[in-house]
Amino acid sequence: MRTAYLDNNATTAIAPEVREAMEPYFAAEYFNPSSAYERAMPAAQAIKKARETVAGFLGGVDPSEILFTSCATESLNAALYGAVRANPARRHVVTTAVEHPAVLEICKDLARSDLDVTFLPVDRSGNLDLRTFIRALRPDTLIVAVMHANNETGVIFPVEELARIAKETDPAILFLTDATQTAGKLPLDLRGTMSHVDLLAFSGHKLHAPKGVGALFVRRGAPLRPFMIGGHQEGGRRAGTENVPYIAGLARAVELAWADHVATEARIRRLRDRLEAGLLASVPCVEVNGQGAARLPNTLNISVHFIEGEGILYQLNSHGIWASSGSACTSGSLEPSHVLRAMQVPFTAIHGSVRLSLGRYNSDGDVEHTLEVFPRVVANLRRLSPYWDPARDRPRPEAEAMLQGA
Ligand code: PLP
Repeated sequence: MRTAYLDNNATTAIAPEVREAMEPYFAAEYFNPSSAYERAMPAAQAIKKARETVAGFLGGVDPSEILFTSCATESLNAALYGAVRANPARRHVVTTAVEHPAVLEICKDLARSDLDVTFLPVDRSGNLDLRTFIRALRPDTLIVAVMHANNETGVIFPVEELARIAKETDPAILFLTDATQTAGKLPLDLRGTMSHVDLLAFSGHKLHAPKGVGALFVRRGAPLRPFMIGGHQEGGRRAGTENVPYIAGLARAVELAWADHVATEARIRRLRDRLEAGLLASVPCVEVNGQGAARLPNTLNISVHFIEGEGILYQLNSHGIWASSGSACTSGSLEPSHVLRAMQVPFTAIHGSVRLSLGRYNSDGDVEHTLEVFPRVVANLRRLSPYWDPARDRPRPEAEAMLQGA
């Protein structure tokens, strides 16, 4: 059966070059990088080199500003709880209503432990309002946590500008961005356009490194209490024997991502645009979530009115097409996505959302297969929908009225 992996925002395949770079540290170079004898030197060297590579990838920051972690979630926990513990006098946090749970749930936890948290709303396209952001900043604001791009819709936030505004308002405000969906896709220039960002997190497995490794950039001087203690590793800021093979893999992955990112991005964008235009042309009553906003070139979040996204995914799966429906499927609940709810996607469409996310290993064939299967899947499901008139391939009149009101 022909298959198409269209869930690259969930995770990516490990690149063969990455596997190759990791291999020696599983085998001959298994030593503890902290050991004092010469034979352990290659392991220590691999970490040093990886730190330099990631520092270069982030715009040439100082290698000492890079911490290796186990994933973006750990990096975000370390950043947020570390900032709160280091700055007890400041009690206000600003974030957005559409963050990944790795930030959202921490912020809810902070709100429960008597910090004040502002969750910024987004508009129908998924954009933030700059004036609302400026009004949210307060004299006791400790940290702003705004994602670089949304994992469900691909909508990109202007974190460069938000960070600049926050610093101009009060240089002591820390600015954290979750760059998990942008690392390897968009430039992360922490000495240039992102020079006002203090903290940046990402995960290896979104850019063809394995799951279980991530990084946190901490700008020199940013006050942060270590989140994991109990060892001297990572300058005492993240204890625990380093995962040498995975760190070497992460460094190789960022090298690969950056080596050809312009050509790869253009190719992926062309595939995504072809998919998007094809689906809009062949499936009636659909909308693109995030339409009108700046979006990642690889992501298409499409809502199909009057049917369930889970049903679409199930049937796509039986045709070898692997996609996701955002947060609902990962949580195993039937609750619609918090991101789409924040965007006020109408109720006729919010349950029918599907996220198709492409990556460097996708081809025109994957797009053609999906364009062939998706409209048939939707037509089959709509035949069962009380709102749909299959004879006219349109909503029934009462459902049309719901659409007008939507
Ligand atoms: N932040 C964003 C935007 C994500 O998309 C994800 C994963 O989907 C995470 C954080 C968490 O990444 P991890 O599970 O690798 O810690």
